Amino acid sequence: MLSNKTALVTGSTSGIGLGIAKALAQQGANIVLNGFGDVEGPKAEIAALGVKVEYHGADMSKPAEIEAMMAFAAERFGRVDILVNNAGIQHVAKVEDFPVEKWDAILAINLSSAFHATRLALPAMRAANWGRVINVASVHGLVGSAEKSAYVAAKHGVVGLTKVTALETAPTGVTCNAICPGWVLTPLVQKQVDAKAAAQGISNEDATRLLLGEKEPSMQFTTPEELGALAVFFCSPAGNNVRGVAWNMDGGWVAQ
Ligand code: NAD
Repeated sequence: MLSNKTALVTGSTSGIGLGIAKALAQQGANIVLNGFGDVEGPKAEIAALGVKVEYHGADMSKPAEIEAMMAFAAERFGRVDILVNNAGIQHVAKVEDFPVEKWDAILAINLSSAFHATRLALPAMRAANWGRVINVASVHGLVGSAEKSAYVAAKHGVVGLTKVTALETAPTGVTCNAICPGWVLTPLVQKQVDAKAAAQGISNEDATRLLLGEKEPSMQFTTPEELGALAVFFCSPAGNNVRGVAWNMDGGWVAQ
């Protein structure tokens, strides 16, 4: 379905981003990976799906590096047809204790990077009259949780950016939507499970049950594969007129 299309997924060396990149590659899209840590493993996983794969190591907190990444993708593949703004970090602390540099980093990586990548991707999408911008927000783009001020502020911002981008592109073949996962067991969440286990002196399994029990009536993690399937739907012809939604996949978290 997506052969001859190119998808750039930020923060795709791990977790949800890698899951979405794989799902798009399974539909035939060439992939530009981005993120830190192991690169060769994710590159090999995508290449094994029979598509072309490139990597750019832009730090998503730096606008100049985002510009270099978008120019690199255009140079290698002609243009970016599908942009998935996924890179994100977390830090947990009360507002009055929140380190200022962590606030700035979360706003830059989780929110401003989506603005920069989107503004740079849109002209070519408009020219082709086809494009997909998919923003990985969170249930925290829809509701709050204590001790996550920067993350919740950034993710609400991403949902707002999604709506405005969708409105501005509404008369065109370009769409913009957000995915709002609940808990997904990636390194970002494993750190929170480990912290809970250490703080309460309980096992990892008990900490996992507590974490899910606080928020997710299903008591199940959403998987990167399920989120990838939603991204594929947004890219399908059935998604042509889906514009500006913030679709939660969260085991009932925000239904409460
Ligand atoms: P993860 O830690 O597994 O992956 C994060 C990715 O972002 C990695 O590839 C990492 O290298 C990359 N990254 C981090 N800082 C970067 C930077 N400055 N520049 C470039 N890349 C950078 O986390 P994840 O859980 O897969 O999170 C992916 C997205 O999903 C994030 O936006 C996160 O907020 C969102 N999300 C996660 C969950 C969850 O439960 N895991 C729930 C809702 C939303």
